[in-house]
Amino acid sequence: MNATTITVPQADPGAGYRAQKEAIDAAVARALASGWYILGKEGEAFEQEFAAWQGAARAVGCANGTDALALALRGLGIGPGATVATVSHTAVATVAAIEMVGATPLLLDIDPETYTMDPDELVSVLEDPPPGLPPIRAVIPVHLYGQACDLGPMLKAAAQHGVAVIEDCSQAHGATLSGTKVGNLGRVACYSLYPTKNLGALGDGGVLTTDDAALADRIGAIRQYGWKERYISAEVGVNSRLDELQAAILRVKLTALDAGNTRRQAIAQAYDAALTGSSLAPPARRAGAGHVFHQYVLRVPERAAVMARLRAEGIATAIHYPQPVHLQPAYRGRTPMGPAGCAETARAAGEVMSLPMFPELTDAQVDRVCEALRRL
Ligand SMILES: *Cc1c(COP(=O)(O)O)cnc(C)c1O
Repeated sequence: MNATTITVPQADPGAGYRAQKEAIDAAVARALASGWYILGKEGEAFEQEFAAWQGAARAVGCANGTDALALALRGLGIGPGATVATVSHTAVATVAAIEMVGATPLLLDIDPETYTMDPDELVSVLEDPPPGLPPIRAVIPVHLYGQACDLGPMLKAAAQHGVAVIEDCSQAHGATLSGTKVGNLGRVACYSLYPTKNLGALGDGGVLTTDDAALADRIGAIRQYGWKERYISAEVGVNSRLDELQAAILRVKLTALDAGNTRRQAIAQAYDAALTGSSLAPPARRAGAGHVFHQYVLRVPERAAVMARLRAEGIATAIHYPQPVHLQPAYRGRTPMGPAGCAETARAAGEVMSLPMFPELTDAQVDRVCEALRRL
């Protein structure tokens, strides 16, 4: 085994804690002292503050990003007897959430430049649905790596066919498209607040936003056994609550989100400049999109060798994601795909590589990565 010490980690949620330690410790102490640990004042305040940050009418906290997607589907009445279109090049959670509610996932191929859903694939399955599948009732586009997907044509096609658009914003807190924050474009937006995300709890968390008050109320009830009043289930629900400790921590971390995104963009620019003249192309930027660099992803045909060279210099990298969902053992051979059969998805999985990216990277660490990139 090569025992090189990693001096530049790929991600470091502990650094995010240390950067706001005093305020986070105070928030934790306040939540602990309150004597109320689930769905209380901190959770309500976080929902209000997150909705205000998003520019949405309402936010509903929940246990994690997977549940946020499942709650959005349940809230829209989508379950058994429905197909939900999404991508295979995503965190498996996107697809798992669709099956959690009993719906059928339909996996569409990606645009090879931006790694996000190919809108032509969506138009094609909406106009000519694959035979043998239940009707397509929703689409979950994923704003991957911090960049908005090409939502314009997808929103148009979805509206024409009466299909709900649920934005998976788990990697795109603060990303924009034509000046509008993602999450304000579809019917409902779902966020993971996993520790490594651009807004991360120090544990699990998730949140949904929507301008539809009735939908927010319904999702708010479903996340707690379908209760509208205590102990009385108005409909069948689940248990997916955001706890007060995480909510208190998230309120602090939300105040650093925009600055964190700006720092990620500066790091990305430094990486871009270092790659000029190298054999590798910097990540494609979609015209009119504000990229918040959840990940800085390169396409590297000789990936294993490049990762090993960087590791030998103390620089950690990661692969998001090494195996597309439709090829993973749990899904292989049984998950329907769009007309392109996910060929670009499979190619991307073999070549993508994520460089170190988090706001607390020091300038010295960024320089170190840049020097290594110039030698590639
Ligand atoms: C992280 C992530 C999720 C799942 O979030 P959890 O909080 O881990 O359940 C869903 N979708 C995408 C695109 C993600 O990156």
